[in-house]
Formats: sequence, structure tokens, C-alpha cells
Amino acid sequence: MNYQNIKIHSWHDIQPLFEELLNRKINSYSEYLNFILEWNMLLTIISEDSGWRYINMTCHTQDENFKQEYLDFVTQIQPHLQIMQDKINRKTFESSYFKSLSDNEYSLFKKNIQKDIELFRDENVPLFTKIQELQQKYAEISGAQTIVYEGKTLTLQQASVYLKKLDRKQRKEVYYLINERRLQDENTMNELLNELIQLRHRVAVNAGFSNFRDYMHKALGRYDYTVDDCKKFHKSIEKSVVPVIENIHQIRQNKLNLVNDYYPYDTQVDMYGLEPLKPFVTEEEFLQKSIQCFEQIDSFFANCLKEMHAQKRLDLSSRVGKAPGGYQYPLYQSGVPFIFMNAVGLHRDLVTLMHETGHAVHFFLNNHYPILDFKSPPSEVAELASMSMELITMEHWEVFFPDKKDLMRAKQQQLESVIDALPWIAAIDKFQHLLYENPNHSIDERYEYWISTIEKLSSKSIKYDGLEKFLKIKWQAQLHIYEVPFYYIEYGFAQLGAIAIWRNYKQNPKKALEQYKAALSLGNTKSISEIYTTAGIQFDFSENYIKSLIDFLWKEYEACIW
Ligand SMILES: [Zn+2]
Repeated sequence: MNYQNIKIHSWHDIQPLFEELLNRKINSYSEYLNFILEWNMLLTIISEDSGWRYINMTCHTQDENFKQEYLDFVTQIQPHLQIMQDKINRKTFESSYFKSLSDNEYSLFKKNIQKDIELFRDENVPLFTKIQELQQKYAEISGAQTIVYEGKTLTLQQASVYLKKLDRKQRKEVYYLINERRLQDENTMNELLNELIQLRHRVAVNAGFSNFRDYMHKALGRYDYTVDDCKKFHKSIEKSVVPVIENIHQIRQNKLNLVNDYYPYDTQVDMYGLEPLKPFVTEEEFLQKSIQCFEQIDSFFANCLKEMHAQKRLDLSSRVGKAPGGYQYPLYQSGVPFIFMNAVGLHRDLVTLMHETGHAVHFFLNNHYPILDFKSPPSEVAELASMSMELITMEHWEVFFPDKKDLMRAKQQQLESVIDALPWIAAIDKFQHLLYENPNHSIDERYEYWISTIEKLSSKSIKYDGLEKFLKIKWQAQLHIYEVPFYYIEYGFAQLGAIAIWRNYKQNPKKALEQYKAALSLGNTKSISEIYTTAGIQFDFSENYIKSLIDFLWKEYEACIW
């Protein structure tokens, strides 16, 4: 079957192709393999099509056609696709040849198919559509949150830039404006979460689980760790990372001259009282310096970026009419991914491009696999690729910061953000466990869950007196709780892995890079633990292991401050 020239306007354009696959008689193992390959070819084409719909929409938010094309996919094609996928999964699984698929190559593919079949329930399809609509509501409510400051209307994302201002009065004013604005939606956000929790709980019960947490643990394909391992991670972070965060904030409040007067609006300002770093001015300079930086590490990395540039797969600068954020989108059919971001010349833009290029390198090392599942590793691995790249490239940031002190500040800020993220990740995950273990909790209980969680997983040096009402709803700003539940701890695991890869890189760059690339080349054909082992690191959440990584990071951090 030749799928190359399909144009997908509606479900009817692809339905007959799936029907043909579904009705096809399979008479030999080679026909069976062929069936799997053709099915994946079809999925590859659909994925490229939906990819462009997403990319076009986010690059041109004011274009109604692009928005409609994307929505058409989500509402008119995706629900049919889900049902069809289940049918094809069943055909694949029920075939007598399923057992013949080699355990070496196909073990995860087989596990994933069995898992999807086990979880699939017809009655959950409309629930998922309803859930998706509610998730969209979260995006609408938070997207409509703006403040007016100095006569300018700012989104909360734009406003957060003011939290870095050297003028404390400005920081404080904007901090209050942002949080007062969030407070206006407190009840709406709580009710929205009530509805989501109820629906998600039903999905879980329909599929035979006692709660949605356990359902998601299975749905996310977490074969390598248990729910108890997640809890062990929360504990280890509390024990090994929180004391280090405490040290960092002690240093900051000393340098800022704010001992015992250090508030949330003082946590992001430069502690030396210096203006923000400027790693580049124009987009061209940004790109060329990034290529130069990668060139010093591995020419393959640089070539990935050059190829994306040549194929017009980079949209880096911020402009009116672009969605916020940054992402790397895999485009399996055309074979070159897309990087989207909103660069304005800040340090964090540099980190974002290093991160997304890490994902792109991963893509280029994987795209030769003929089966979609083989090249779609879970986030514990995908984010390992990107987060490691942030830290590896940091060793070569002098391209962006020829001044020694600027370079030290850039590293210091990067390491602060790495370490700050870990307890927050643990808190968001732990909070979600409590929410779904107790689906009928009251709003007051919900607040108790949050406060007891965040108290253990944040720095006590930051004062919240008078700001308790803001702290109480801080989690409402975390879109994952609403839009992608439980999908967050992966970042924590990957961040730890990235620190370990960076440590290896500092000891033996050549070997560390070989291991990094070898691990990434495995795609999704091996377990997370095997991939981490190939990368020369451990998949481990014990207190001791985490402490050894954090001790290393702390030494590096200390070397960057003066
Ligand atoms: Zn990422």
C-alpha cells in the first residue's frame, strides 16, 4: 500500500486505509510484519499532518484557519483514530504471530499494546472528550489572566519578567498584581479541578482501578518503577535537596542584604544587583553562536541544528501572534523536527535552545526505526536527552559569555534553576497523589494537602507572612495538574540523570558523549533502566544516590559565586 500521497482533510480520507488493514487476511509471519509496518507508516503520516496543524497554529495564533484545522483534528479525527487504534491493537495482539515478535526488539512494543488494550474502554472515549474540553477551559482561564502595570497590559508570563527587576518596589508591586489576579480565579479553578477529578476517577474505575493515580501509573507505561518509588523520590528530595536549597537562599539573602526580610519576590533577582545577562542580540547571532557551541562538543550536534536551519524548521524569535513557550516537535515523515520558541535575548532563551536541540538530536538518532513506538521514548528518557544537553553545553558557554564573570553568573543561574526545580517537582507529584487517593476531599482538605506538602518541600528562608493566601493556591498555576495529570515526576528523574551525565562529561568528555549517544540511539527499544545504564548512569531515587549528585552540583555552584 502506498500512503505517500494521502491528504488528510477529514477522517474519511484515512478510514478506508485503516479498514483495509483491519480486514486484511494475514497468512504468514512476513505478512504480519508487513501489516505492522504499513500501519506504522500510516500513523507516521497522520502524526506529521497533525504536527503541522499544531505548529501552524502556534506560529500564527491570529490565523483562524490554522486554529480551525487543529481543532478539526482534535474533535473530528482523533476520537475515530482512538477507536480504530484499539481495533488494530487487538488485531495485532490476537494474531497467532504476536508471540513470534522477538522479545529483544519488540518487548516494549508488545507491552505497550497489551497495556493499551487492557486500559481501553468504549465508555471512556466520551469521558476523555469531556476531560479534554475541561482541560481546554484551564488554558482559557489562565490565558485570560492579565495585569495592568505602568499602563501596559501584560500576560502573567510577561509580568513574571518583572520579578527579576533590580528595583524591589517594582518586583513587589508586580508580585502582588500577579497573585491578586490569580486569586480572582481561585474558586473557578477549584471547581474545574473538582470536575476533572470526578471524571478521571470514573475513567479509572471503569478500567478496573481503585483510583486514577494507579490508572495513570499504568497508562504512562511506568514499567520501571512503582508508586512507592515515586514516594521514595519525594522523601529523598526532602532529605537531600531541601537543605541545599536552604543554603542557596541563605547566600542570596545575605548578598541582597535582606536577612530575615527575604520574600518570594526576592528569589529571582540577580543577587549581585547586576542587570540581566545578554547572550545574544539578533536571531542570526543566536543561531551562529549556538552552532559554534555545539561544534566544540560534537559536530553531529551542530549538524542537527544546521540541518533544521536549512530545512526552515526553526522559529526562534518572539513576535506578536506566536503562542507562548517553546517545544521541539518530531516530524517523522519528513525526517527533520521543528523547534519553536520565543527568544528575546535572555539567558533562559539560550537554555531553551540547548534543551530543545537535545530533543532534536534524540530525534535524529531515532528516526531510522520503522515503528513509531520504537522511536517514542518515555519522558524519563526524552527529558534526559534535553536536560543533559543544557548542562553539557554549559561547559562551552564562553561563546555566549566571553566575560568570565558573566559566564560564572550564567552557570550560577542555571544551577539554581536546576536545583530549585527538584523540590517543586516532588511537591506537585506528591500533591497529586493525595488528590487522587482521596477523590472526594473537600476544598479545605485540598488546601491542607498542599500546605503540608509544600512546607516540607521548599525553603524556610523565604517568608510568606501576609502572603499565605497566595501560597495556598500556588499549585493552580501548574498547568500539568489540570492538563497532563501525573506527567511531571519524569522531569525530576531526568534532571537527576542529567546531573549524572554532566558529572561523567566533566570527568571524561569523550566517553560520556559516546555513552550519551549510544543511550539515545536505543529509542524506545529498551527499558528506562537499561537506557540509563547505557548512558553510564543509574536510574535510582535513593537518598544516598541523590545526595551524591547534589553534593557534586553544590561544589560546582560554589565555584560560580564570588
Ligand atoms: Zn523537554
